[in-house]
Amino acid sequence: MRLSELLSKAPANEEAQVERFLNARLPWGKHKTIEVGKVAINFKCKTCDNVRTFMSGDKLSCLGVGERVVSIDACLKCPVCKATIEAWFLVVSRDELDVQAPTVRLERYVDNRRDIASRIGVGAGDFDDLLERAQLAYEERLGAGSMVYLRKIFEAITKQVADIASIPTIGNNGGRKPFRNLLQEVDEQYHIIPLAFSSDGYKLFSELSEIVHGDSNEEVALQKYYPCRSLVIGIIQNVASDQEMKRAIDALGWNINGLNVPSSGAIVP
Ligand SMILES: [Zn+2]
Repeated sequence: MRLSELLSKAPANEEAQVERFLNARLPWGKHKTIEVGKVAINFKCKTCDNVRTFMSGDKLSCLGVGERVVSIDACLKCPVCKATIEAWFLVVSRDELDVQAPTVRLERYVDNRRDIASRIGVGAGDFDDLLERAQLAYEERLGAGSMVYLRKIFEAITKQVADIASIPTIGNNGGRKPFRNLLQEVDEQYHIIPLAFSSDGYKLFSELSEIVHGDSNEEVALQKYYPCRSLVIGIIQNVASDQEMKRAIDALGWNINGLNVPSSGAIVP
């Protein structure tokens, strides 16, 4: 594959063997223009109010960083309204960078989207915004931060389904019902937990929900970020695929702003 294909998979930190893109070592601090195909990344363009493939030009700017590390700059443009955003990639090679077909990995990716574009979510209003925040925290290697946003979604959607299904969020003693109990009641009625996460007797689900909901350490949070994110997206999709539930929630506008979600434990009604 060409280097542009690997870069186009950002923010995924993929590794692949790519066609040669440097025919000599690029020393520290030296620039070179490289032609590796166009980088193309999908974003939701705010001007177009639609998903667009933002594209780079034919040439990218490559800066030598170390023996096996280069920094690459690109300016990506919406093909329709011509709005532009900047993207930066740090690429690390397993061997020498100037060999015939180096195996390289996208180590870091940062984009500067300002108010031009947003990452593509799952089409669930405010939850998309929280998913994007979780992802950005993860990309900055902020494990606990990323979990806070996933937890907000997890709790807000459970609370919304409970409200629509008239499941009380207040326990018998007049206090808030523990989140775990509320979730169990909601799941019994509406099966919001994705099958993939409940098929092992809820072991995987329990483990991940403990990480999302409890106080896991940074390293564990980063390691389990993607499975936790899949779990939360699965819950959103399950709720959205239930027509009755979707109508009710659409009517509420996937509202998360009216909820006061504390950093851990119960939901404040
Ligand atoms: Zn546009």
